[in-house]
Amino acid sequence: MSATRLLLLGPPGAGKGTQAARLMDALGVPQISTGDMFRAAVADGTEVGQLAKGYMDRGELVPDEVVIRVAAERLRKDDAAKGFILDGFPRTTAQAEALDSLLSELGRPLEICVALVCSDDELVRRLLKRAGIEGRADDNEDIIRNRMRVYHAETAPLLDYYRTRGLLAEVDGLGGIEEIAGRIAEVLA
Ligand code: AMP
Repeated sequence: MSATRLLLLGPPGAGKGTQAARLMDALGVPQISTGDMFRAAVADGTEVGQLAKGYMDRGELVPDEVVIRVAAERLRKDDAAKGFILDGFPRTTAQAEALDSLLSELGRPLEICVALVCSDDELVRRLLKRAGIEGRADDNEDIIRNRMRVYHAETAPLLDYYRTRGLLAEVDGLGGIEEIAGRIAEVLA
């Protein structure tokens, strides 16, 4: 495996978090999940958390300027110099553009965008299952459907964004965790 600056893209429930955590161990670079950062901020009652909570509860996107500020702060930390696995950021074209300028300023451009491909039906099924296990407030059926709508409207265009830049590798997201990890390892090799 050679790439260490990567982005995992995919709809909610595609397994980005699970695969990002595995890659973090395999590659020795931090997993940067804006969703995890926002959940921590909500739990800590910070200003960012208070701002993000309503959007998260409704399954909407937190405004770009907030997300970009939080992600940029994280990417500027020393441990991200050796690489990073972005998980759940960027989610809009404005975020992708901000990421590009930040990474080019840092002289550490993205090397690959791995997109997990999964059908909506399978995603809803998995998210409902996760709701039962993790009890996430944004994992009920209506909110899940809203998150899927938001994904298709705001985030799916990033597939073309990265395809155009020659960075996109699409991976079948259907199957067991090991199986999908194997497919990701193949495209990273
Ligand atoms: P996730 O755990 O990645 O599914 O994120 C959970 C929630 O956090 C999302 O539904 C959004 O409300 C918010 N969020 C996380 N990342 C972003 C982002 N890049 N842009 C906007 N909102 C985000």
